[in-house]
Amino acid sequence: MYDDLTKMAEPYKIKMVEPLKITTREERIKLIKEAGYNLFLLKSDDVYIDLLTDSGTSAMSDYQWAGIMLGDESYAGSRNYLHLCEVIKDIFGYNYVVPTHQGRGAEKVLFPLLIKKGQYILGNMHFDTTKAHIELAEGIAVDMVIKEAEDTENYHPFKGNFDLEALENFIKDKKPENIAFILATVTCNSAGGQPVSMENIKEVRRIADKYGLKLFFDAARFAENAYFIKQREKGYENKSIKEIVREMFSYGDGFTMSAKKDALVNIGGLIAIKDDEELFTKVKTMLIPMEGFVTYGGLAGRDMEAMARGLEEVLDENYLAWRINQVKYLGDKLRDAGIPIQYPAGGHAVFIDGKKFLPHVPQEQFPSHAICVELYIEAGIRAVEVGALLAGRDPVIKKEILPKLDFVRLTIPRRVYTNSHMDVIAEAVKRVYARRDKIKGYRFTYEPPILRHFTAKLEPVE
Ligand SMILES: *Cc1c(COP(=O)(O)O)cnc(C)c1O
Repeated sequence: MYDDLTKMAEPYKIKMVEPLKITTREERIKLIKEAGYNLFLLKSDDVYIDLLTDSGTSAMSDYQWAGIMLGDESYAGSRNYLHLCEVIKDIFGYNYVVPTHQGRGAEKVLFPLLIKKGQYILGNMHFDTTKAHIELAEGIAVDMVIKEAEDTENYHPFKGNFDLEALENFIKDKKPENIAFILATVTCNSAGGQPVSMENIKEVRRIADKYGLKLFFDAARFAENAYFIKQREKGYENKSIKEIVREMFSYGDGFTMSAKKDALVNIGGLIAIKDDEELFTKVKTMLIPMEGFVTYGGLAGRDMEAMARGLEEVLDENYLAWRINQVKYLGDKLRDAGIPIQYPAGGHAVFIDGKKFLPHVPQEQFPSHAICVELYIEAGIRAVEVGALLAGRDPVIKKEILPKLDFVRLTIPRRVYTNSHMDVIAEAVKRVYARRDKIKGYRFTYEPPILRHFTAKLEPVE
C-alpha cells in the first residue's frame, strides 16, 4: 500500500451507477442553440459531465443511505434531530442547533435577528445568496479578502484570508456600533474555493473582541478548509481534522451552513450557536413560521439522519485527501498546459481565468461564458460562469458591473466522478484553448431584470 494518500486511487468503491448519455457534437451544437446559449436551460440528461455546482450533487455513502431507512418522521422530537445535535456538539462544540431546508434558509432566519438597518456585515468575500439575505435585512455587505486573491497566477496558501488591516480600519472608521457582525466564509467560495488560515481566523477573533463584535462562520466547506490548514499551516501537520475543525469554530459565536456541500447530502442546512441562549430563543421563534418546527426545520427526519452521518464522514482524512487532490489533479493538468487558472486550485473547483483565456473578447461580451458554451460543444461538459454575466448590472445606474475576477468554474461534485472524467475535462479544455482565437463573445437576445444568468437568452456576437 502507498503511504502517500495523494498518489492513491479513490478510497471508496462503486456500489450503484447512473448511466450517462453520450451525445454527438452536432447534437450539442443544436441543443445549446435551442437553450439560448444558456447552460442553465439545458436538460441535465443532455450533459455528459456536470460541473455546474458541488451543491447537493454529492454521492451519499451506503452508511448514509442506511440512515435514510431510519428516518423518524415525527413532527416533534425526532430522534434524528437529537442525533444531529449530538454530532454538532461533538464536532464543533456548539450547544444549540436547528436544521433548515438549505443554507439560504439559515441566512433568512438568522440575519434579520442580527442586523439593524444600515449596519455593515464584514466578510472575507460574501457568497451571493448571503449577500442577498444581508441586503434583504437592510444591511450592507462588505468584502475584505486579501488582495492576493485577485492575483490568479501567483501562489498564496490562504487566498481566502481577511485583510486584517482593512478590517480593523473599517471598524474604527465606521464605528463598532455600525457593524452588525463579522462573517468568515470557509472556504471562500467566491475567491475560488480558497481557504482561510487558522492564524487569520484567530486574528479576526481578536479584532472582534477588541471592538465587541460577534464572529459567525459561513461554514459550507468547513472540512475542506480544515484539510488545507493541516496541509499548509505550521503546527497543524499532526492534528486530526476534527481537532482543527474544533479549534476553528472555537473562535466563532455560531454558524450558518449549507449542508449540500461538506455535509455530503443532497438537501439541508443548519444554524448553530455556541452558547448565546437568548439568540437561540429568537432563532427558534423565527424558524417555526419560516422553515418549520425546531426539530425538523423544513427537512424530513431521514434527511437529518443522512446529514448527521455525512458530517461525521467528511472528517475522514483519506476522503479529504482524495477529494482535494482530485481537484488539484485537474488544476495541475490545466496549468501544465499553460491554461490560466486561479492558482493554487481551490477545494471544490478549478477556476479558469476567462479574461486571460480569451483576451480578445471584451468583458461586456462574457468571455468566461463563451468558454462554457465551447466546453459543452466540445465534450458535453457543463461548467458555470462566475463573472460579468453573473454579476449583472448596477441596480441604480443599470451599467454592467465588471468584476475583477471573471471565472469559468469547473465545480467537482463529491465522490461522483473518477479521474478518467478529470482527464476528459482537461483534454476538452485544452482543445478549446487551442482554438481560442476563433471564439466569439455573446450578447443578450433576452435579459431578465434580476438574477439574469439563470434565464437569459444569448447569441454569439458576429
Ligand atoms: C451554497 C452556499 C450558500 C447557500 O446555501 P444553499 O444551500 O445553496 O442555500 C451560502 N454560502 C456559501 C459559502 C455557499 O457555498
